[in-house]
Amino acid sequence: MQVQEQLVKRRCVHISKNGKKRNYSNNHPLSQMVFCGNCHEIFRRVHWNNRGKKSIVWRCVSRLENTGLFCTASTILEDTLKEKIVEAINVAVSGKNSFLAILKKNIETVLSVDLDETTADIDKRLEELQTELIQKANSKEAYDNIVNEIYRLRDLRQETLSRNALRQDKRDRIAEMTDFLNTQTSDIAEFDDKLVRKLVEKATVYDDRLVVEFKSGLEIEVKL
Ligand SMILES: [Zn+2]
Repeated sequence: MQVQEQLVKRRCVHISKNGKKRNYSNNHPLSQMVFCGNCHEIFRRVHWNNRGKKSIVWRCVSRLENTGLFCTASTILEDTLKEKIVEAINVAVSGKNSFLAILKKNIETVLSVDLDETTADIDKRLEELQTELIQKANSKEAYDNIVNEIYRLRDLRQETLSRNALRQDKRDRIAEMTDFLNTQTSDIAEFDDKLVRKLVEKATVYDDRLVVEFKSGLEIEVKL
């Protein structure tokens, strides 16, 4: 197996409200993506065999094991879940003009490149501190304060870079969705693993509706 594949198949950890950690294998296109609108736990894929009638369903984990949460969320057939996700994508396709306008606006405002933070000041200060540190060490003076300040600034630098990376990631996701909407001229006919992995962040199951949250930030609700 290639490293890339291993990364994709890595086990994810979902931390419940009650603090319990749970590991799930990440090999189904919808794993880690389906959540309960009632108790906010994750939905898990289950093979059901009801008196010889086999089906694959998704069910809230609070109804499968003790999560400390009482949940009455309905179970959903995998076929229905897939169909409804396709429906949500098609809502985006058929209303592409208004959705493209929203994406464009988000790129121009909250995700503007102008909002990216520079680390130039931190870098400059770090350089000064390194020099000071060497001087103090050479003259056998105490330098604990300087070391602490260097650690603090390094953390700050890392946080700044992470924030910029997150913003860039969101811009990339918006670009992907924009490309998809611009090139998709008709409804998609069936559930497409690759497309769903690329576009969809999560789907939340309520009793009467499914809320599909796209990686671009768009949210579309379809009736169940
Ligand atoms: Zn639930």
